[in-house]
Formats: sequence, structure tokens, C-alpha cells
Amino acid sequence: MAKPIAITVLPATGDSLYAAQAKVYPREIDGRFARLRLAAVFVLLGLFYLVPWLQWDGHQAVLFDLPARKFYVLGMVFWPQDFFWLTCLLIIAGVSLFFFTAVAGRLWCGYACPQTVWTEVFLWLERLCEGRRNQRIKLDAAPWTREKILRKSAKQFLWITFALWTGFTFVGFFTPILDLAREARTASFGGWEAFWIGFYGLATYGNAGYLREQVCKYMCPYARFQSAMFDHDTLVISYDAARGEPRGARKRSADPKTLGLGDCIECEACVQVCPTGIDIRHGLQIECIACAGCIDACDAVMDKMGYARGLIRYTTENVLRGGRRHIVRTRTIIYAVLLGALLTAFTWGITHRAPLIVELLHDRNALYRQTTDGGIENSYTLKLVNKTAAAQRLHLQIEDHPELHITGHSDVVLAAGEVANIPLTLHAEQTPHEHHEHIELVASNDDGSVRVEQRGEFFGPESP
Ligand code: SF4
Ligand code: SF4
Repeated sequence: MAKPIAITVLPATGDSLYAAQAKVYPREIDGRFARLRLAAVFVLLGLFYLVPWLQWDGHQAVLFDLPARKFYVLGMVFWPQDFFWLTCLLIIAGVSLFFFTAVAGRLWCGYACPQTVWTEVFLWLERLCEGRRNQRIKLDAAPWTREKILRKSAKQFLWITFALWTGFTFVGFFTPILDLAREARTASFGGWEAFWIGFYGLATYGNAGYLREQVCKYMCPYARFQSAMFDHDTLVISYDAARGEPRGARKRSADPKTLGLGDCIECEACVQVCPTGIDIRHGLQIECIACAGCIDACDAVMDKMGYARGLIRYTTENVLRGGRRHIVRTRTIIYAVLLGALLTAFTWGITHRAPLIVELLHDRNALYRQTTDGGIENSYTLKLVNKTAAAQRLHLQIEDHPELHITGHSDVVLAAGEVANIPLTLHAEQTPHEHHEHIELVASNDDGSVRVEQRGEFFGPESP
């Protein structure tokens, strides 16, 4: 006989399978870590908004010119052939993330993630228009009055302007920003430019204005796999339950020991400042972005109560269990050595990149040609790419084969960033001994600072 399966019928909640999230109203906070985060916001956003306006050697200092397939970065020009360096950069970014997370937890989330940084600005604009936490809660609950409409409209105006400026700046990394500014004055953006300004602006507006903590909680993949990088010695923001419990309200003058209480006065300040709306006293949670707002809030409360700071603090699981803190451990040493080696190799490689691409392609139609004077000629196409931001005068020669001469011009002038396909003919006055010789074409400049070698083949008739 079939066994019955017990089921629990949940109360009906309407037709929706979706539970709306309660809006989080983070309280404003001042303190050591809030100031550190503010400094990070200024530096990172300052760089983002200023860098595209900087010029370097007559070019935009940082420009990813996709149609021309050239990336300008502080006087260096990167070509599609330099894609390897971009890969290296991504690997370095990945290893850095592992290293810093293993040492100090979610530093990236709390101080440098674009979501955190832009949300901070949007929150600041919101406070400017709608006031402090309690005023914002009241305003949202109040009916639509003239004042509410004015305040909400002012916020929307500032948010949209800032989001569009962000979209404009983002596109300015891919299209010369001075041209974009000229187009902005006459409202004559190209179709793609208008699309990306709108798209990036909308993404900023939506993510930093409305989604906020939902991005960290539900959309960010990093939050999911970070636990793999944590161990018992990773710095995390924790509530010291041994010191704080049992929690309870009391007068400032009361002695907690006499009342049988710990140091937590249950003021909820740590919960009110939390941008993700969690209670750190429940332990380490995936939603915690390590912004340290709760540390600042709790330290301020401890100061008022005359207790020692650090009821919520950066600490490690080992320390909370009564052990010692170990910053230097096998995994951090491995990450540090790997990161150091990668950074060294990357810096050396970037500063010693060949400034020139030389390719020698033999004529496909004829291996060789016999000339009327009894000599042999081979034809090639020489492809030269000047990867630098300055013009170059190059001298071409064939090494170790005095019998081979370049007919025509052996000097070439390339403009900055020029790609040239030059027909080239090599002439031997006598039939070579071998049917097929390896040759080395050298392109060098006058002062010898540029010298690139390219192998090729020279063909003659086969020996009878
Ligand atoms: S801020 Fe500190 S004292 Fe207040 S509830 Fe949080 S942990 Fe307790
Ligand atoms: S729990 Fe504390 S550190 Fe974590 S997100 Fe909330 S305020 Fe920031």
C-alpha cells in the first residue's frame, strides 16, 4: 500500500510568488571607517570622472579606441596583438582579489566595488533632498503633498543628471571625450554613443538608486564564492558575543555586571546603519558587504556608555574563539609570491614591448623569378605596424647574406600608429647554391633603440 506523504499547506498570500523586500533606510554615520570609505569614493570616482579628460602626447591619456583597434594608456599604445597583456592584467586582478580577501575579507565590497561607491553617492544625493533617515521614512509614508513632490522631483533630477554624466564619462573612455563634449553641445551624438550613454546611465540609476543592496545579496557572483577564499584567520567584521551577551537596555550609570548584562545595550544602531539591512549580531552572513558601518555605529555607542570600543570589530574566527591571529600563513604567502611574480613580469614585459610589428609574407604566385642579368629575385609583402605614439624612420636590411640586396627603398618612415603594407623585392646577382635559404630581415631605427628581426625564406631554382 502506498505510504501517505505528509504535506503542510501554507497560508494563501495572493497570486504572487514574489515577496517584496522591505526598503532599507540606512542611517547616516560618521567614524573612522566611514571616513575611509568616503576617501575611497573620492579617489575612485575622481579617477573615473577625471582620467578621460587628461591628454598625453597629443592623445587622450586613456582611450580604448575600438574602431581603430588601438588602446592608448598613458603614452603607450596597445594593439590587438597585445591582447596577451590584457589577459595578464585580468589574472593579476583575480590573484589580487584572492590575496586581499584571504587577508582582510571583503575589502573590495566595502570600499572599492562600483556598486558600493555609486550607491554611496546616490544615498548622499537622497539625503540632500529628503533629509536624514527618520525624515526619509516619514516622507515615504506621507501622502503626496507639494513638498513631497518637490523633494522627490529634486532627487530624481539629481540622480538622472548624475547617471547621465556617468554614462557620458563611460563612453568617453571609448570615444574621444572632447569630440563627445562638442557633440553634447549640439546634441548630435552618434546612434551608438547615445545608446551607450543611455544604457550605462540607466544601469547606474537603477543599480545605485533602486536595487542597491539587492545587487549584493542576489546578483553579485563574488558574494557567492568568497567563502571559498576565507579561512579561520581571515579578517571579518564580527560581533563579540562573549562580551556583548546577554544584551539588554540599561541606564548609562548602571553597572552591567550587577544587572547580569553584557556590553550590548540593544540600541539597534548597528542594524540601522547597515546598508543591507542585516543584524551583524546574528554572525557572519553572506549579505554583509563589510562596509564597517556597524563598527563605527557601535564604537560611538560604546564611547557614550563609557565602555571599551570594539564590541563589533575586525577580527578573526580564531581570535573570537580565544586563539591568536595569524596574518602570515601558507595561503597568504602563496598568493603574495604569485602576485609579486606576476606584477614583476607584467611591469617588465610592458616596458620592454617591441615597439614595432614586422611580418614578411612571400609572394604566393611565384617562388622566384630569373632576371635578364642572370640573377634571382623573390617578391614579398612587408607588413609594418608602428605601435608607438611617435613617427619612426626605419632602415631595412638582410643579415648574414651579403649576396642579397633589397631593390628600391630600404628606408621607410612610419607615422605614429601607422600600418603599412610595402612591396619588397630581394635580388641575388647569382643563382644561390641552395634552392631554399633562411633569411633574417632586420628593421631598425637610427639610434638603435628599435630593432626587430623577422625570419623569411629566399628561393632559387632547384639543383639539377
Ligand atoms: S550598536 Fe552595539 S550596543 Fe547597539 S545594538 Fe549594536 S552591538 Fe549592541
Ligand atoms: S553588517 Fe556591518 S559591515 Fe556588514 S554590511 Fe551591515 S553595516 Fe556593513
